[in-house]
Amino acid sequence: MWKVTTFTIGLLAALEVSLAGVGARQEPSPERVRQPSADGKLNIIAFGAHPDDCDQGAGGVATLYAALGHRVRFVSVTNGDAGHQTEGGGALAARRRAESHEAGRRVGVDYVVLDNHDGQLLPTVEVREQIIRQIRLWNADLVLAPRPNDYHPDHRYTGVLVQDAAYMVVVPNLTSDTPALRKNPVFMYFQDRFQSPQPFRPDVAVSLDQVIDKKIDMLDAHVSQMYEWLPWVDGILDKVPKDPATRKQWLKQTRAVAPTPAVRAALVKWYGAQQGNAVKYAEAFQICEYGAQPDESMIRKLFPMLPK
Ligand SMILES: [Zn+2]
Repeated sequence: MWKVTTFTIGLLAALEVSLAGVGARQEPSPERVRQPSADGKLNIIAFGAHPDDCDQGAGGVATLYAALGHRVRFVSVTNGDAGHQTEGGGALAARRRAESHEAGRRVGVDYVVLDNHDGQLLPTVEVREQIIRQIRLWNADLVLAPRPNDYHPDHRYTGVLVQDAAYMVVVPNLTSDTPALRKNPVFMYFQDRFQSPQPFRPDVAVSLDQVIDKKIDMLDAHVSQMYEWLPWVDGILDKVPKDPATRKQWLKQTRAVAPTPAVRAALVKWYGAQQGNAVKYAEAFQICEYGAQPDESMIRKLFPMLPK
């Protein structure tokens, strides 16, 4: 079943090429690549290594974007087929694909799961091309990804793969089955806790106070992870409530955490002292040095949920 996505991407790429017209394969018309953003709506794409990673890093802002009519796609670079203590392989991948689609449906986010094995991701040219196609097909204004210094090799290499794609998305001779973008998107990283070689720097912080329950609802769709695999890894499987409503409350208690001091400072910068100090839940992002470099007014355009 998970082969369908690869096929669908190929089909979409072919469709895009045919829409661009015969002979336009290497030289997509500027209208075609600019048109999706011409309606004033943003195209946001986030990459995670596993089918619940984007949800944790950007599920809140994605909910806010979707509510404002912007287009958000989450891409899991692996199919998650290793993330369980008693299940695995194709059956687990199919289960996690269904969970991802349900998570996306709950908040209005498009969810794609690529068919790469969980736990074995490498920054190859083949996977880089998959990332390049995704960014191009989405005509992304903003690309979100993990930093490449995470504890999990799949997370690290997802960060590297997106960095490796950051310039190549505008080079028509590379991955030429999918027309190149004419403008480089802005790339940003999800928040993390890792300190080496340097700690995460929250350049932008967004209040989730209006949507925290929607974000938890999104995470709640990943039953195999939130209530089975992750508690098993942490040795707290016996602490997970059995009743669905009670376990969702437990999920909120354990997953919705207060902003760090650095994120608090960023909230004060973007919301002002009074509002910024009152925020209970947030997501923060660090600008990647590759891709377009946004100034403050560009950041406000890319994050329209920030106060004017
Ligand atoms: Zn992960």
